[in-house]
Amino acid sequence: MRRVVREALDPQTAEARARRQADADRDGEVGACGVAARWKAARQTNDLLAVHAVLKRMAGPRERCMYCLDSHATDIEHFWPKAPYPERMFVWLNLLLSCAECGRFKGERFPLDGRAPLLVDPTVEDPWQFLDFEPRTGIVMARYDDVAGQQEPKGVATVDLLQLNQREALSHGYLRTYSRLRAAVEGSLTTGVLDASRLLHGLRAADDHGLLGWCFSERGAQEAPFKDLRARHRQVWDHCVNEIARG
Ligand SMILES: [Zn+2]
Repeated sequence: MRRVVREALDPQTAEARARRQADADRDGEVGACGVAARWKAARQTNDLLAVHAVLKRMAGPRERCMYCLDSHATDIEHFWPKAPYPERMFVWLNLLLSCAECGRFKGERFPLDGRAPLLVDPTVEDPWQFLDFEPRTGIVMARYDDVAGQQEPKGVATVDLLQLNQREALSHGYLRTYSRLRAAVEGSLTTGVLDASRLLHGLRAADDHGLLGWCFSERGAQEAPFKDLRARHRQVWDHCVNEIARG
């Protein structure tokens, strides 16, 4: 997973969003069927197509799923599921892009801690604050919070909801990306003279799974060759950390 920067909608599309939501709120909905029918009717209209285009741009050139980053994103996803929360059906901040598999695993499940979602929203928070990566198996799991002495509850819920630790193809994909990132850093280290911008450009081009946020965290810094990069080229390391944090 990676942090996704949410773009603003153009005023015309934003206004259409607000109008559609106001109409839905006024009419009310009768159960999941009513919600599904309203969404289906709206889905191919120009303003929803415009929303889809902005989400695809936000997802990056390969249009990968914003949850798993391993598969092609196929459709608009409601972070707060639309059937139980029809009041958010057309709200821009509630719309993401996901793959069919993540959509199927999530369904209408949406655990809350009080009123706060336990699922990580990649457009509002850095997923690696809650998730961890196992560099030998490629498994994505909940991060262990040393201070609290337990796994991050949001990480636990997100992994469980999207089955991130159970999907073999997904782990293989993360491992492939990790291997490419390692190779890029190893290659730079052998040259001896590092150009931070060039290194970062190469790393970003190779980072299909949003792993840079993990590689340049305290966790990643314990693994070679990231460990060596930090020890031998601290300025380059700090430059990468700062740029990655900026998105
Ligand atoms: Zn997915």
